[in-house]
Amino acid sequence: MKPRVLVVEDEASIAEPLAEHLQREGFDPKIAGTIADARQAMARDQPDLILLDVMLPDGDGRDLCREVRKASDVPIIMLTARGEEVDRIVGLELGADDYVVKPFSAAELVARMRAILRRGRTGTRGGAISVGAITLDPASRRVTKDGVPIDLAAKEFDLLHLLMENAGAVLRREEIMDRVWDPHWFGPTKTLDVHISWLRKKLEDDPSSPTYITTIRGVGFRFASADEVAGADRAPDAR
Ligand code: CA
Repeated sequence: MKPRVLVVEDEASIAEPLAEHLQREGFDPKIAGTIADARQAMARDQPDLILLDVMLPDGDGRDLCREVRKASDVPIIMLTARGEEVDRIVGLELGADDYVVKPFSAAELVARMRAILRRGRTGTRGGAISVGAITLDPASRRVTKDGVPIDLAAKEFDLLHLLMENAGAVLRREEIMDRVWDPHWFGPTKTLDVHISWLRKKLEDDPSSPTYITTIRGVGFRFASADEVAGADRAPDAR
């Protein structure tokens, strides 16, 4: 069964080549150029995933995102334009699953689509994430290490959730700040470093030589992938 993808995008120069690419990649894409078309297509086709532009001729894609999210868990990836700062925090505020900034690479978008679809729909979406000894359950907002509950403050949890969802990938400082903190936060980004050090104290065997949360100097942070941590357990000094 090919995953059904609804591409809500009014610019044909983006939507059409994207739909062709998705078809080649094994998806079943449909295009809607307006919010009205998108509503009809959703009811008719019941897409497995929605790619949603922000600026649409008959309204704002963000409003549609909120509207869809009230009724459905269907994964949504926002297609945002560079400079739409507010739109870059889609995850927490709108309930979208991810976003890409135009111009985006089709390959990267497809990779993110596959990652989201792997998480599955309703039942498993928001399911627990495990890396090494650490398990995070978004539904209950519980974190355990080797089965022992770890007490985290709300922002620590949100930060860890973002890092673990993207385990193995580098997250830029700005992206973390946008997604975990208020999008209009203009304060010192030291806040992020402080939260990282709190997380390390709570999660790492040796906070001064972290296994899980690595600093990527000048860029941001990276949570180890499950494979790496499995290796680290066998050879703790192989860093
Ligand atoms: Ca548009």
